[in-house]
Amino acid sequence: MRMILMGPPGAGKGTQAKYVAAKFGIPAISTGDIFRANVSQGTELGVEAKRYMDAGEYVPDEITNRMVRNRIDEPDAEPGFLLDGYPRTLAQVEELDGMIKFTGHQLDAVVVLTVDADELVSRLLQRAKIEGRADDTEDVIRRRQEVYAEQTEPLIDVYRDRGLLIEVDGLGEVDEVTDRIFSSLSAVHQS
Ligand code: AMP
Repeated sequence: MRMILMGPPGAGKGTQAKYVAAKFGIPAISTGDIFRANVSQGTELGVEAKRYMDAGEYVPDEITNRMVRNRIDEPDAEPGFLLDGYPRTLAQVEELDGMIKFTGHQLDAVVVLTVDADELVSRLLQRAKIEGRADDTEDVIRRRQEVYAEQTEPLIDVYRDRGLLIEVDGLGEVDEVTDRIFSSLSAVHQS
């Protein structure tokens, strides 16, 4: 199974990604988590990425693509993977197409979690209190929503046109949403 989990910031992607990946026995690859790990380890990549993350902007495609390519090349991703937070731009879609094609496989599904905008902001402010993420201040939250609408929402149509899109209502209890994702994926062809 090679799949993408999409949705606006605060839609619950990270939480769901872990459950779904575990069910399919594949790694959940979160670009946000990899960036944050690099930031906390103070690597060169982390220093570079932090400038963008703190402002709610996307890290440049070149940096992000290279990081994903390296991660997908690792042996645990050979049977498949779930991408959480990648691709986020049209250029990243193209890059991912190339990476998957190179392995001789195909993308099986793109799940998008849909959540009302007001609900998203209140979820993110709540998460800010619990996790203390540097990019969860109100201004940055707003900017991240704008960037998502401008740069990432167009990807939904791209994947819909390819017949890969599965829209799942992201509102409700975590396990309710997980069940919705599982049942919508049960019909998907696995390569
Ligand atoms: P996330 O945890 O997925 O919300 O990601 C946190 C931040 O990491 C984002 O706001 C971006 O600054 C950066 N980031 C994560 N994934 C990507 C990506 N695919 N492209 C560019 N920047 C990204």
